[in-house]
Amino acid sequence: MLDADFFRRWLTTAAAAVDREADRLTELDSPIGDADHGSNLQRGFTAVASVLEKEAPDTPGAVLTLAGRQLISTVGGASGPLYGTLLRRTGKSLGDAAQVSEAEFADALRTGVDAVAALGGAAPGDKTMLDALVPAVDALPTSFAAARAAAHEGALATTPLQARKGRASYLGERSIGHQDPGATSSALLFEALAETAG
Ligand code: ADP
Ligand code: MG
Ligand code: MG
Repeated sequence: MLDADFFRRWLTTAAAAVDREADRLTELDSPIGDADHGSNLQRGFTAVASVLEKEAPDTPGAVLTLAGRQLISTVGGASGPLYGTLLRRTGKSLGDAAQVSEAEFADALRTGVDAVAALGGAAPGDKTMLDALVPAVDALPTSFAAARAAAHEGALATTPLQARKGRASYLGERSIGHQDPGATSSALLFEALAETAG
């Protein structure tokens, strides 16, 4: 079973990973975006880590909804509302249980990923974070390690795609040949999850 502490550790591990990889995420966002993905997420996840410490929410659902709200209010770019929605919707779907099973978490995360797709109007193949999130959530019922591998492969597989959503889509065919920054940060979130589940 997964408790509030597990989810707090996941998000603080994710914040550390985003911090470590911020320059790389921003570099990926230079040729096909506006070179701010790393700094956007760094600001957002730093705020998430600090609000979780300050408010110490005591259920999985409360941890995720608080983190999601914090991302929405601190990140201006497209990724803030999208990741914020992912966490908030996943948290809402978990309700107020003190502990949740891995299967319940996988179901809730699916609801969150569906909400991201609805909000951004994107689908797998559009060269967005969904290219990592969807295969990861498909693999999550197998194991955290399988979800991590699927997210990583999904992020790598965005390179040959032409972007159909977000800023990168303005480049048309010139978006081909670059890995999507949002899919790359999604892979980091699943790496942090697998690490936390250890
Ligand atoms: P912005 O593009 O506003 O500067 P970021 O650079 O923080 O925001 O995030 C860019 C990432 O957001 C992209 O690499 C992509 O993965 C994701 N993204 C952008 N638009 C969408 C969308 N409509 N649906 C899903 N993901 C999107
Ligand atoms: Mg950007
Ligand atoms: Mg921007």
